[in-house]
This record gives sequence, structure tokens and C-alpha cells, in this order.
Amino acid sequence: MPTFPSFILSRRHMLASTTAALAASALPALSQDTTVKASSMEDPTTKYPQPPFQEQTQPFPGLAGKMTPKPDHGETSYKGSGRLAGRKALITGGDSGMGRAAAIAYAREGADVAINYLPDEEPDAKEVIALIEKEGRKGIALPGDLRDEAFCVKLVEDAAKALGGLDILVNNAGRQQQAQSLSDITTEAFDATMKTNIYAMFWLTKAALKHLQPGSSIIQTTSEQAYDPSENLVDYAITKAAGMSFTKSMAKQLGPKGIRVNGVAPGPVWTPLQVSGGATMEKLVEFGGDTPLGRPGQPAELASIYVQLADNGASFSTGQIYGAAGGSGQP
Ligand code: NAD
Ligand code: MG
Repeated sequence: MPTFPSFILSRRHMLASTTAALAASALPALSQDTTVKASSMEDPTTKYPQPPFQEQTQPFPGLAGKMTPKPDHGETSYKGSGRLAGRKALITGGDSGMGRAAAIAYAREGADVAINYLPDEEPDAKEVIALIEKEGRKGIALPGDLRDEAFCVKLVEDAAKALGGLDILVNNAGRQQQAQSLSDITTEAFDATMKTNIYAMFWLTKAALKHLQPGSSIIQTTSEQAYDPSENLVDYAITKAAGMSFTKSMAKQLGPKGIRVNGVAPGPVWTPLQVSGGATMEKLVEFGGDTPLGRPGQPAELASIYVQLADNGASFSTGQIYGAAGGSGQP
């Protein structure tokens, strides 16, 4: 029989008795928790609508309020626990999709939130501002076109002024227009995609730097398209690879200053982007059906990632891309 040094044995005895004592003292709490745990089990394959979806199309940029089924941004489900209390966030594309899910979650975690969106998206934006204010937080609406450098600089200044500072920047706005052939992408369209998805990220981050103190967070919404680009999203996929690269180089540049830079890489998510030119009708009808979970994601399912990346709890995570693609992404 092998012999063990006495310190191992005594440590084992100590652990055994400590575990027993802990188990005994935790028993009442555990039995109280059991129902909560059982009722919170959710099967991710059936949690949300699966394809086929009904055919639908909207002019760009599209409204979440006009989609069928309506996306879930966590309006009735997201519960906060003070993780971002007192923080001040600017979220682009905060009216719908992932930006809206992040805005709702940030407000419920105790942050004041400014959102940017295009003027056509006012109906979606109004709902988001009302939801933020319902949490007793500041909700600041700052519409305007991010393809303009002067507007981007003003946006950051206006947000910082209205919020009394800025410590979270979420570069989330995006333009995605599918094109079957490179010949179908005009110079104007290519330029609009680059301006919205790359230049705005550069202009906004540059303008935000002077406001960001140690502990601040910058978050990009990139995409699985950065790693596995589709044949009909050539220009868009370039920009998502740029967002991933920007995240990693800026994390190195800003790490010594105590500012973290991370990204979120969604797979197929049910948002206006997809019904306003982002996907072909064939793809839309079967949207997300080819993921291992068999359905598209809903914006609400990514909210906790945006919270986690801004939260002090993730203080050693920078230069990272967090994926949420239903099993098929590769961030
Ligand atoms: P969305 O349509 O809800 O959000 C995109 C937002 O971009 C719009 O709401 C709009 O406010 C903003 N926007 C576009 N052009 C703009 C401009 N010129 N000026 C100001 N704002 C502008 O769709 P979403 O899917 O939530 O998109 C958010 C981000 O997620 C985008 O960066 C997108 O590339 C990325 N993404 C989406 C998916 C998906 O399947 N939905 C997958 C991977 C990545
Ligand atoms: Mg929108």
C-alpha cells in the first residue's frame, strides 16, 4: 500500500471535515435554491424561433419594430445586478439589434447610456430611451450619420457632456448589404460600408480617448465573417476583420493605460440588418438553420457578453473576441 506524507493525509482529513461542515451549513440554502435552479433550465435549441421564417424586406436601415417575429432584446427578460453602477456608456446602433440589447442591459446594470442611430430609426430609438429611463438611468438620444468625421467627433463630445464623462464605448453600428458578385458593389456602396464599419470606429475611438480613464472599456461588434467570410459579403467581411484587428492592436496600445479593448463576434442574429439588404431572401427564410443550435440568435442572448466585457470583473481580459454563433463561429 502506498504511503502518503503526513501533511497530505492531514490536509485530506482537514478538507473532508471542512467539506462536511460546509455541506451541513449550506443545506437549508441549497434546498431553498433547488426550485429556482430547476425552473431556470432552458433548452437553447427551442428557446427562440427556428426557421423557416416568413419572407420580409425593409429599406435600409430597417426597424426592429417591423420585423416578424419581433427580435428579443431582453426587454422583459434581462435582470441586472449593479455590475455597471455609475458607468457612462456610448453605444452606436443602440436603437436595435445587439446595440439595443446592450443598452437595455447596461441600464439595468446601473449605467447611464447614450445611443446613436440614424434619424430614420427614431421609432426604435424612442423605445430604447424609454426603457433606459424606466430604470432611473439617463438615456441620451444622439441621432446622426457616422460616415461623417465631424459628426463622430461631436457625438463623443455630446455624449460625454450629457453623461458627465465616458467610460464605455461600444462601436456596434454596422452596414451589411449582400452582393452576389464583386461587379455589383459600386464604389459608393463599398465606401459606405468602409465608412460606417471602419472609419467610424477609428474616429469615435480617437475622439473618446481623452475621456477614457483607467478602468474604461472599448468594445467592437465584429462578426464570424472576420474569420469565415461569405462569398456575397466581401466588403462587409473585410470590415469585420478590420474590427477584429483594431481590437487586438488597440488592446496592446491601451493596455498600459488601463483601458481594455475587446470584441464580440456574433453568428447569425435576428436583427434589422438582415432584413434590410444584409441577406438574400433564401438565406433569410432559413436563417440560422445551419447552426448546431438550428436557429438564429436573438440580440438578448448576447447582452451578457457586452456587460461582461465592460465590467471590472473582466479586468484581465483585453484584446479578446468573445463569440456567440450558435456553435459554428470561430472567433
Ligand atoms: P441592426 O440593424 O439592429 O444594427 C445596426 C445599426 O447600425 C443600425 O441600427 C443603425 O443604427 C446603425 N447604422 C448603420 N449605418 C449607420 C450610419 N451610417 N450612421 C449611424 N448608424 C448607422 O443590426 P445588428 O445585427 O444588431 O448589427 C449590429 C452589429 O452587429 C453590426 O456591426 C453588425 O455588423 C454586427 N453583426 C451582426 C450579425 C447579425 O447576424 N445580425 C452578425 C455578426 C455581426
Ligand atoms: Mg436599427
